[in-house]
Amino acid sequence: MDVIQEVLQTVKKRNQGEPEFLQAVTEVLETLGPVLARHKKYKDAQILDRIVEPERQIFFRVPWMDDQGRIQINRGFRIQFSSAIGPYKGGLRFHPTVCASILKFLGFEQVFKNSLTTLAMGGAKGGSDFDPKGKSDNEVMRFCQSFMTELFRHVGADCDVPAGDIGVGGREIGFLFGQYKRLRNEFTGVLTGKGLNWGGSLIRPEATGYGAVYFAQEMLKTRNETLEGKVCTVSGAGNVAQYTVEKLLQLGAKIVSLSDSNGTIYDKDGINQEKLAWVMDLKNVRRGRISLYIEEYKAAKYYPDKRPWGIKCDCAFPSATQNEISGDDAKALLDNGCFLVAEGANMPTDPEGVERFLAAKILYGPGKATNAGGVAVSGLEMAQNAMRLGWTKEEVDNRLHMIMSAIHKSCFETAEEYNQPGNLVAGANIAGFMKVADAMLDQGLV
Ligand code: NDP
Repeated sequence: MDVIQEVLQTVKKRNQGEPEFLQAVTEVLETLGPVLARHKKYKDAQILDRIVEPERQIFFRVPWMDDQGRIQINRGFRIQFSSAIGPYKGGLRFHPTVCASILKFLGFEQVFKNSLTTLAMGGAKGGSDFDPKGKSDNEVMRFCQSFMTELFRHVGADCDVPAGDIGVGGREIGFLFGQYKRLRNEFTGVLTGKGLNWGGSLIRPEATGYGAVYFAQEMLKTRNETLEGKVCTVSGAGNVAQYTVEKLLQLGAKIVSLSDSNGTIYDKDGINQEKLAWVMDLKNVRRGRISLYIEEYKAAKYYPDKRPWGIKCDCAFPSATQNEISGDDAKALLDNGCFLVAEGANMPTDPEGVERFLAAKILYGPGKATNAGGVAVSGLEMAQNAMRLGWTKEEVDNRLHMIMSAIHKSCFETAEEYNQPGNLVAGANIAGFMKVADAMLDQGLV
């Protein structure tokens, strides 16, 4: 048996009942064969055995009191996966599905993603099975305060810098930061995604969505194409989806869908700036369901419990959650002529779907490359905090643009170098892996 299969067998044995984690590890390891064949040093130093094991996993109780005075107990997590190339860095997710498997998959992906950004950041992920939906601001605040009352001892500006993810936006980051500051009595850049008045960076809210679109532009350039006039489907209606739509609009694309966990809206006339502003208010202020869109915009249709992948489009931007594109969804997209998929979400396409996209040789940008703009600007927020300076919007956006171009170049060229031209999955995994693996070699048995 070759070394990759041996490591995968151990991972399976050690992490039973963790399908998302196994999926992510399998997807990465199975693309690393050519690197191991070319560079014996990684095999000799057993880098694969080490890189699949998180450096540290923290699980903790989060007790809090709801508005009725009842005691509630949630589970908190922080998976500090790798600090080979910088302090641990990665988001916090608050969603009822959160468990060790999901956070380990996200932490593992984060290691390679952060390596691709060109910045010095290790990989981590954390969160809770707490569901902010339907909770009052006070309940969310009490939960965040209790969560940070344990987490604060494990994080810090030079140690581990969490950010947002599903269910954790500006409101939650504010409550978490406030509690950290009280406990530590210091004002440091311990979290990113902060408010602009207290250490946040311009363009951080926009970064993941904008970055995904910049990455799509880079992919299109290789075929002398642009986004102008392209029909695009977008899933999700949260942070990533909203700013993906905003940037697509600026570039002249037509966006026809959005979704949430209850269903999909299809607007054949296209979602324009005014409709997007309405969605942002619905999701960020009123915190309502996307189904309400058809009451406001009567020509649109709502499909309960459906994802947007049956809608005809040129380009698809999955921006909701993992495994939201199945093999059948991928087939439907391809049958309808979709020729570009840019993953704003993490691991949104299941293994069968990935295989279909690769076999069809469409422009396919895997999440760890395409959505790296979010963590890249988080890295820029850390740099600004360290200097106690704030850059202009243009400066941050330019840097984001340059980073996304560099990530595409690195994935594209690495794929060519390893004889898999156009395969950005292999390119991203190999390029991300080598930087971390080389750092591990330099640092001894860690
Ligand atoms: P938000 O919480 O802002 O939005 C998430 C959106 O996805 C919501 O519309 C939500 O619907 C929907 N969604 C969540 N879970 C499911 C589900 N199980 N099935 C269907 N729809 C679902 O999160 P973000 O926009 O920040 O994150 C979206 C994706 O992008 C995630 O995969 C995240 O890991 C990834 N990502 C985010 C980054 C960031 O900077 N924020 C950076 C890189 C990646 P509902 O409201 O009904 O739950």
